[in-house]
Formats: sequence, structure tokens, C-alpha cells
Amino acid sequence: MLDPLYLKTAATAPSSAGDPAVAETVRTVLADIRDRGDAAVREYSEKFDKWSPESFKLSDEKIEEIISSVPIEVLDDIRTVQENVRVFAQHQRDSLHDFEIETAPGVHLGQRNLPVSAAGAYAPGGRYPLVASAHMTTVTAKVAGVPHITACTPPIRGEIPAATVAAFHLAGAHEIYLLGGVQAVGAMALGTETISKVDMLAGPGNAFVAEAKRQLFGEVGIDLFAGPTEVLVVADSDADPFIVAVDLLSQAEHGPDSPAILITESEALARAVIEHIDALLPDMPTRDFAGAAWRDHGQVIVVADIEAAYALADTFASEHVQILTSEPRRALDAMTNYGALFLGEKTCVSYGDKVIGTNHTLPTRHAARYTGGLWVGKYIKTVTYQEVTDAAASAELGRLCGRAARVEYFEGHARSGDVRAAKFGGDNLSW
Ligand code: NAD
Repeated sequence: MLDPLYLKTAATAPSSAGDPAVAETVRTVLADIRDRGDAAVREYSEKFDKWSPESFKLSDEKIEEIISSVPIEVLDDIRTVQENVRVFAQHQRDSLHDFEIETAPGVHLGQRNLPVSAAGAYAPGGRYPLVASAHMTTVTAKVAGVPHITACTPPIRGEIPAATVAAFHLAGAHEIYLLGGVQAVGAMALGTETISKVDMLAGPGNAFVAEAKRQLFGEVGIDLFAGPTEVLVVADSDADPFIVAVDLLSQAEHGPDSPAILITESEALARAVIEHIDALLPDMPTRDFAGAAWRDHGQVIVVADIEAAYALADTFASEHVQILTSEPRRALDAMTNYGALFLGEKTCVSYGDKVIGTNHTLPTRHAARYTGGLWVGKYIKTVTYQEVTDAAASAELGRLCGRAARVEYFEGHARSGDVRAAKFGGDNLSW
């Protein structure tokens, strides 16, 4: 068999271009927030979330009250998971080094890693309270050294997501707002009368949130295009079809627009997985989302061998890639386009989403071709500096600069070099 066999195809494949109707809605909301600030934020919160409390910002007393409603075991688990995220993020921070080198006598070039001054952290909550997104955005920003963190999460069908608020607070967010969607990221990015503008926005979200971040990029830093979740499983004939089926559905439940894809060398495995999914779906409490996602965006593809599976998987540049093969580490060499890899049957995407410590805010819609997920470095600016302490070195650079700039017809640049060649090297000025 040379051509892939498509046992199940998707109605629509995820596109990096996004949905024009979503883009138009987002453009209107952002323009309105830019013009009318808080009044627009309130109107859109009423419209999209039926939510208009006296204050969107939670006071310290209200935060304490909300946290006291969260069961102790849940708070303990939040602390454990945040410690896992912190340990990994700290290792990432430690891998970023400041340095200074002397490239020639008296020519000093340096690099520093500086955190942004203010970050906005978004935890989604339209369908589920995504408590883990609060760890991923806020713990990571704290480890990066960001001095001020503003956090937003929406109410869920009019209810306060208590565990998410607790997670933001325990992670060290300075301000917490119960606000969702475009109005939340728009307010943080643009600033309003009551919500101060941040320098950097991070956190996953639905198509509206992802599109808002895309439109705001430039006015504010954004982490990445982290839209509706995707999963792709690469499995060989040794894989357990029941586990493959469960894991595909575990990600399909994120929402009706979440692709779940299986690529395998084994037609028998593929058919068994489809049977398990068909059997599991009717009793799944989240079948409305998972069923729609599987129906419209599920794919099952059989290829000639496992190398062909890795090669095809790489073209998807999927957010999560789960490797259920007899030699899962082979994927580290065979693949380069993925947000996160999950190697072998003893781990799964859900560990990454919820507990293990790697960041779950990951690139979607092919963005894994050019970026990884959220990490400490996204909150950090790698900046450079230079100093020339030797007169002869400055004069030599001045001559080189004069010649190089005149090739580009930049006379002003050239003269900055010329004056140094004159002052520190005794050259005559010819102009
Ligand atoms: P969300 O918080 O992202 O979005 C909810 C908000 O969307 C609401 O507050 C509302 O204001 C807005 N909204 C809803 N319908 C709207 C409309 N018609 N017009 C304008 N605004 C509208 O929560 P969600 O909807 O549950 O989505 C969460 C998403 O996050 C899922 O798609 C999930 O797959 C994704 N996710 C991605 C990652 C990643 O790293 N890529 C990680 C976790 C979750």
C-alpha cells in the first residue's frame, strides 16, 4: 500500500487562516473597547456571557471568600500541580543565560534576559473551568520575574469558577477579573479606565480569544496562536486500541471544533479504534462536544509503515502528538512539527494538560511549524548591549561603518562612523 488509506475523513480540516466571521466580530468588539473602554467591556460581557457584576475585579476579601469555598483537597492538588509547573519553568529560566564577550580588544558585546513589566494571563472558561491554564500562564510569568500579572477568566454560565480564581491567587496574580473572551483580552491589551494595559498577553482560548490575540499582536506581545485544541496519535500494531480511542476522545471533548486524528500503519488497529470510539461516545458525559468534534474533525489514516506515519504526522504540525508505538522515542528524531510530544502508553495528553508540569498552552492550526508553546522565555525580552572602550577599535569600526553605510546610501550613518575615525584615529573628515 503506497497511498494512505483514509478510513475516516474530516468535514473540514483546521486552517491557519481562521474564520472570517469570527475575525469580523473580534474586529468590531476591539474597536469598540478602544473607543469606549469600560462601557464597551461591560456591554459585551452582558451580551456574550450575561455577566455584569458591580465590579469585574475581585477584591481581596472576595478572593478569600471564593477560596474558602474550594475543598481543601482541590487546593492541595492545585499547589502540587503548580509546583510541577514551577520546577519545569525554573529549569527553563536557568537555561537562559546573560553573557558578555569581547569580540576584539576593547569591543564588548552583551546579552541580557529581562522580563516584561506587566503580563495578562487568560484562563478559558466558556465550557469548562480551565483551572490548569491559570497555573500555566501565571506560574510561568512569576518564574520569569514579571512584576505585575493581571488575570482574567470568564464566569461559567453565571457561576464564579472558584478553583480557577484560587489557582490564579495561589500562583501569585496581582489582580483577578471575572471577564471572558474578546472583552477580557481586549481590555488587558488596550487598557481601560479601570484595567491597566499589559505588555504581554498569554493563555489559550476558543476561536474568538485566539483571533483577538492575533489582531492585537504588535500593540501587545502575545505568546502564540493557542486556539481550539488538537490531538494527533501515531500508533503501531502493538498499540492498545482501547487506550488510543480513550485518548482521542479525551481531547475531542475540548469543543466541537477540536480535531482528533489517528495515523497508523495497522488497518486492524484503526478499525478497532473506530469501533471503541463508537461504543464509548454514547455514554460519555461530554459526548455533545466530543461527538461533534469526532464527527466533523476526526480522521483515521492508515499508511504503509511507521516511518510514513511520522512523516505524515509532521505535516499536520499538530498541537499534541501522542506516540503509541513500541519505540516511542524514535519520534524525537523523526518529527519536528508539534507543540508537545507524549511518548509511550504510560503518559498521555491529559497529563500534560492538567498535572505533569510541561506547559499546556500550545500552538494550534499549524503554528507548531514556527513556534513552540508557552514557556518562561515568552515573558522575557532577550536584549543586547555594546560598549567600545578602546580608541583604536572605535576608529577601525568607524572606518568600516563609513564604507558599509555608503554602500546603502546612508550618509548620516556613515558620518557617525567618520567622526569617530577622526576623533579616535586621527582621520580627516572629507565632508
Ligand atoms: P473561552 O474562555 O476561550 O471563551 C469563552 C468566551 O468566548 C466567553 O467569555 C465569551 O465572551 C466568548 N464568546 C463565546 N461566544 C461568542 C460569540 N459568538 N461572539 C463573541 N464572543 C463569544 O472558553 P471556551 O469557549 O470554553 O474555549 C476554550 C478553548 O480553549 C477550547 O477551544 C480549547 O480547545 C482551548 N484550549 C486550547 C489550549 C491550547 O494550548 N491551544 C489549551 C487549553 C484549552
